Amino acid sequence: MIIILLGPPGAGKGTQAQRIQKKSGLIQLSTGDMLRAAVHAKTKVGMIAKEYMDAGKLVTDEIVVGIISERIMEEDCRKGFLLDGFPRTVKQATALDVMLSEKSLTLDAVIEMRVNDDALVDRVTGRYTCSECNEGYHDSNLKPKGDGICDVCGNTNFNRRADDNRETVVSRLEAYHSLTAPLLPYYEKAGVLKGVDGMASIDDVTFQINAILDNF
Ligand code: ADP
Ligand code: ADP
Ligand code: ZN
Repeated sequence: MIIILLGPPGAGKGTQAQRIQKKSGLIQLSTGDMLRAAVHAKTKVGMIAKEYMDAGKLVTDEIVVGIISERIMEEDCRKGFLLDGFPRTVKQATALDVMLSEKSLTLDAVIEMRVNDDALVDRVTGRYTCSECNEGYHDSNLKPKGDGICDVCGNTNFNRRADDNRETVVSRLEAYHSLTAPLLPYYEKAGVLKGVDGMASIDDVTFQINAILDNF
């Protein structure tokens, strides 16, 4: 099964991708996570990507397509995968179509997570993750059960992304509306687009997504 989670920054793609991965074993491929790993490792690609990411701009198609095309060749992707944050431009989408057809694979569904821009700023600026296991939290929407203690691993250190600030979010939202939103008619035409109400609670969104995935 090959699924794309499509939505603006803060829509809940990562949160839902982790849940789907836990439930169905479908592997989560997040270009954002891969790029942050490259930045952290100070690779050549990471050094170039960092400038774009810090400015809230999209990294070049060439870089992200290169990263994804290498990643989906790996053994653990054989049974399918869940793309979180890729593709983000029509050029990336057409490159993905070519990659999949070369491997005789088909895209099953593109799930659009619809969230109002106003809610997105709050979601992104309140987001943090466990520094040990990467579990995601939010200042008001999703706090750990024990104050300052990760529910999953008991760690007490958390990270906030450098790009999760108000100014960068505005620029990332602009990039979403101008460069990523054209993917909606693209996938609608291909007959694979499904929508979920991303304004609903996290559990409710999971329910909506599972109802779509149950058809495959
Ligand atoms: P969010 O979770 O807020 O949607 P991501 O973690 O997916 O953000 O991405 C963080 C940043 O990484 C983006 O702002 C962009 O600079 C870069 N990035 C991630 N995926 C892509 C992509 N498919 N194309 C271009 N840039 C990307
Ligand atoms: P994305 O990967 O699309 O950028 P995330 O999954 O990281 O988004 O979610 C952004 C923030 O919003 C996180 O702090 C997360 O806990 C919170 N969040 C995710 N989904 C919801 C929801 N349905 N309602 C309220 N908060 C949410
Ligand atoms: Zn943890």
